[in-house]
Amino acid sequence: MTQTILKVALDVPLDRFFDYASNGELVCVGQRVLVPFGKRQQVGIVMEIAKTSDIAIEKLKPIIRAFVEEAPLDAELLNLVRFCANYYHHPFGQALLSSLPTRLRQIAPAVSRKQYLYSLTDLGSKVDLTQWSKRQKVLSRVWTALQSATHLTETELGTISSSARKAAKQLVDLGYARSEQVMAQQRVPMMPVVAEPQLNDEQSHAVSTIVQVLHEFKPWLLYGVTGSGKTEVYIRLMQQVLQQQSAQVLVLVPEINLTPQLEARFRSRLPQYVLVSLHSGLSDSERLHHWQLAQSGAAQIVIGTRLAIFTPLPDLKLMIIDEEHDSSYKQQDSMRYHARDVAMVRAKRLNIPVVLGSATPALESWYNATGTSARANGTAQANRYGLLALKQRAVSAAQLPQIDCIDTSKVHLQHGLTPQLIAALRARLERKEQSLLFINRRGYSPVLLCSACHWIAPCTRCSSRLVVHLGQRKLRCHHCGHEQRIPHQCPSCGNADLHPTGHGTQRLEQTLAQLLPDARIARVDRDSISRKQALVEILDKVHQQEIDILVGTQMLAKGHDFPNLTLVGVIDTDSALHSPDFRASERLFAQLMQVAGRAGRADKPGRVIIQTAFPEHDLFHALRQHDYASYANALLQEREVVQFPPYVFTALIRAEAHEYALVQQFLQYAYQQARSLGETVIVYDPVRPHMERLKGMERGYIALQSSQRPALQRLLMFLVSQLRAHKLSAKVRWAVDVNPLEF
Ligand code: ADP
Ligand code: ZN
Ligand code: ZN
Repeated sequence: MTQTILKVALDVPLDRFFDYASNGELVCVGQRVLVPFGKRQQVGIVMEIAKTSDIAIEKLKPIIRAFVEEAPLDAELLNLVRFCANYYHHPFGQALLSSLPTRLRQIAPAVSRKQYLYSLTDLGSKVDLTQWSKRQKVLSRVWTALQSATHLTETELGTISSSARKAAKQLVDLGYARSEQVMAQQRVPMMPVVAEPQLNDEQSHAVSTIVQVLHEFKPWLLYGVTGSGKTEVYIRLMQQVLQQQSAQVLVLVPEINLTPQLEARFRSRLPQYVLVSLHSGLSDSERLHHWQLAQSGAAQIVIGTRLAIFTPLPDLKLMIIDEEHDSSYKQQDSMRYHARDVAMVRAKRLNIPVVLGSATPALESWYNATGTSARANGTAQANRYGLLALKQRAVSAAQLPQIDCIDTSKVHLQHGLTPQLIAALRARLERKEQSLLFINRRGYSPVLLCSACHWIAPCTRCSSRLVVHLGQRKLRCHHCGHEQRIPHQCPSCGNADLHPTGHGTQRLEQTLAQLLPDARIARVDRDSISRKQALVEILDKVHQQEIDILVGTQMLAKGHDFPNLTLVGVIDTDSALHSPDFRASERLFAQLMQVAGRAGRADKPGRVIIQTAFPEHDLFHALRQHDYASYANALLQEREVVQFPPYVFTALIRAEAHEYALVQQFLQYAYQQARSLGETVIVYDPVRPHMERLKGMERGYIALQSSQRPALQRLLMFLVSQLRAHKLSAKVRWAVDVNPLEF
């Protein structure tokens, strides 16, 4: 008798499968199984069913059980994860298991929420109602309901009467009804149906252009200013695609905060389809349930954050990536994938379109759509994306806001605020309009400074400064969470005059309260929004006109739509103008365009006031003109000259350990190995990142760069196998970062 051998992927940092004997249960590839692993049990996925093994058959352990009641993962998903594991140089088993909902990584069976669906049999539909006595009123009511609705779920029966389910079972026993088990649909709130606006010319053009090629791989960049009606375009495309038999659409959004709004809008406009969301705000069982609805094809619309790109979707026909430039699409630990890039690969394999939407596209996408290049070197294929522009705001009265820069070097600041901004805030208060003050938190948090020796309170675990939280009388590190009390005197010189300096959100809130005592002020940042509901409550208050001034960090920049908000003040962003990170200006521009987009969304004109010591900077020139395109083109030219992405491909080998000596030794080895290959890849010396120490770990990296993606990939493959075998690889935490966003 030949033995059946199962090759299983496990959540372990080894890039191989593990062989087990079958336990007699009938399994297929993609099936979830429970196996013994060392002294423990592990969940795995069957990747191959084989007849032979390198291990002696009698030594193979059988699997403990197969979760045969669960649908196996399909080949498309397994292949996609395979591609990503190779491309990002991450162990396949870890990549696969971490793409699954938590419940599927646990050793209990993942029961899907099933419920019964009732319908009448032929016999049942001929029933004479009068045979039932008055006592059997529920029976006849259920019968009548089934007669008119053709079928009803248990939940729907529950709305008829508390004993309706029992009555339905009785009908089944009598042979009048049948029941079948189906996956439970989620309970959907009823949404008011919203009238469909007439598309403007630019929108119509975008929709009709994309609809012409729905059945082939094609990336589209929908470049539209904030409020230009991109979401409306998504809705029309979804309508077109979902009209087909068995079709699914995947919509990615950068943050879970943005899902409820979009979800509500999709539900009210596409009420006939099953929509599920997938994000970290769901409970484990909700997430599993939504994921299963997607996997079974029952959910036609899936809206989710980054990880949702790995959802099995048997009928996927279209992907939409909203705010495609957002850096939260990049995973910053474990497998460092970029959801936009993974979407491209997936779409190409499925031969379907992908729509990327943004007012400020990532330079990579802009390059791919416009091919802006004086000296295209032919290696990076430019002009691969279709470009569709929406240049006007959709609501004709809503004009783009006027943007002014106030030179902070020329005026006297009152607690960090220019007289112009204070006057503008006053004017809004008088007119009963709302304002938003935006602080770019990075580099502008209040720190504790000694006036005598200029000592600044540092974090003991990171190379960062502690941030003053006056409310709790604490110093806190925003990188590792370390907290300590505010010292009474300077630990360096003994001076007792320690004071917070810099304009944090808390200080700004206090300053405003003094300057504008009548204003109702709300602060939105990581500290004030620790509860999930807190942001929702504040946003509700803004909509109810119970708040005059919102003070906040980047959390406020995205997506929110406040019709009565007419002023946006930007307090201080100059540190980003001079950042060593080559992507800093791209990010700053996008961020300022986003916040500026919060002003004047409805019929009242908006105004943006930016306080800066560099009003003549190119970035502000472009911003004042709302001219993303020319700024992006200028940045691309710069990148081409200095050979930065997207003109070259980069990867990092990151490493960290408790001692830098270990990191250095490890990276030095990596450096020598990489150099020894003599490929067309530039290998840079080991360096330390801006944040040298983080959470008590000393950090370093080497950068690799090439104009040829395959050459870089070949080198990484070789290098990773060398590094995995190196004796230090157990002592040093290291990772490969392909196409890194941050250095
Ligand atoms: P974006 O997604 O580009 O920020 P939205 O799709 O949210 O823009 O549109 C902004 C506002 O304009 C919304 O209130 C939307 O209902 C409205 N809108 C969009 N398209 C039209 C249109 N063709 N006619 C009238 N109103 C529109
Ligand atoms: Zn001092
Ligand atoms: Zn710290």
